Amino acid sequence: QPSENAPHIVILGAGVIGLSAAHVLSERYPSYKFTVVARDLPEEADMNSQAWASPWAGADWSPIGDFEEKRYKRELTTFNRLWDMIPSGLVRTLPSRICYTEEIDDAKIWYKDLVRDFRILDKDEVPSGAVAGVAFTTVSLNPQLYLPWLRAELAARGVTFLRRRVASIQEAAELAGRGGALVNATALGARSLIGVQDTAVYPIRGQTLLAYAPRVQEFLSYPLGLGAVPTGEATYMIPRPAPPGHVLIGGTFQEDCWDLSVDYGTARSIWRRCLELAPALSDPDVRVLGHNVGLRPARRGGARIEAQWYTLPLESEFLPPPAEGAEKYDFLVIHAYGFGPAGYQGSWGAAEEVAEIFAEHFKPSA
Ligand code: FAD
Repeated sequence: QPSENAPHIVILGAGVIGLSAAHVLSERYPSYKFTVVARDLPEEADMNSQAWASPWAGADWSPIGDFEEKRYKRELTTFNRLWDMIPSGLVRTLPSRICYTEEIDDAKIWYKDLVRDFRILDKDEVPSGAVAGVAFTTVSLNPQLYLPWLRAELAARGVTFLRRRVASIQEAAELAGRGGALVNATALGARSLIGVQDTAVYPIRGQTLLAYAPRVQEFLSYPLGLGAVPTGEATYMIPRPAPPGHVLIGGTFQEDCWDLSVDYGTARSIWRRCLELAPALSDPDVRVLGHNVGLRPARRGGARIEAQWYTLPLESEFLPPPAEGAEKYDFLVIHAYGFGPAGYQGSWGAAEEVAEIFAEHFKPSA
């Protein structure tokens, strides 16, 4: 139980990044006070809100882009942690096949030791339209069950939740109080948070369909270039651990597109492409359960996980000037945003990075 004058750490943002960071920090610092402050919370009312990304993810681990050391470490940590959660039923093993439009170059398959059961497909297993392919076992989860679970874990530890849209770093810091610290996990919100105003943050629109398709039991994706980052129209199917038969069918990767409305032409073409890969999608018991649009919170230059010391009261053209004679003080903010299409698959690793940075910078005042 935190004491009266225990340091107060505010986590701004209750998506998978904020909740995972709160989980790791509250485990390491049981005597500190933690509050998750967010406009959208993992509660019934917000689980269908398009204002945040986390409810709309697949969510599985799948390879995106070329090898990058930091991201590899982050995703390896996350993969192993999710793998250990399989017995809980929140995470499932997922057989996967990915097809490529070019011959396999071993150096470009950087993920073969990250996943399980990796093998290169025999030529006769490669579908038409592709040149080569790989098979492996990955993990998937259902955000609609996973986020409330994270919240319940935190609540059981005494972490409190506050629904609030915060306008500035100053406002968030005042919630923590002097002697506290802030984790900024506001995703696309980092664009408009006064004191951050990170214009490198941008959305990647993802339109998907949620389906009941009990015979689709494999992650399949359309032929891609080796090391490619999907753009425009992509094709993938992600079966979920629960409820039984639920599969996320995707999708699009539309950069800088803020449009939250469903496009039925897009929905039809996603369905048609997935049907080519998985004929089981035409079974008579298959049903569409929902049309979804979510915005992946990306950042040019990659995710930002770093400490920034602010001098408060904050001086900004968008805030009233600090009161005359107001005492200045330093305040620690750890930024953790911009995870784009890979927030779940990097979540536990990102949370560990936040905790390492916190340990390095935060000195509780006596
Ligand atoms: P968010 O979930 O957007 O959370 C941001 C939080 O900050 C919210 O609580 C919000 O209310 C709060 N906030 C923002 N501004 C303010 C403010 N000013 N004041 C108070 N609160 C504020 N990832 C994977 O790893 N695997 C997948 O298979 C996958 N599939 C995806 C499919 C689709 C269609 C989409 C859309 C995304 C997918 N993703 C996937 C990406 C993943 O969803 C995101 O990377 C992840 O959810 C980002 O989490 P976050 O916590 O950074 O952001």
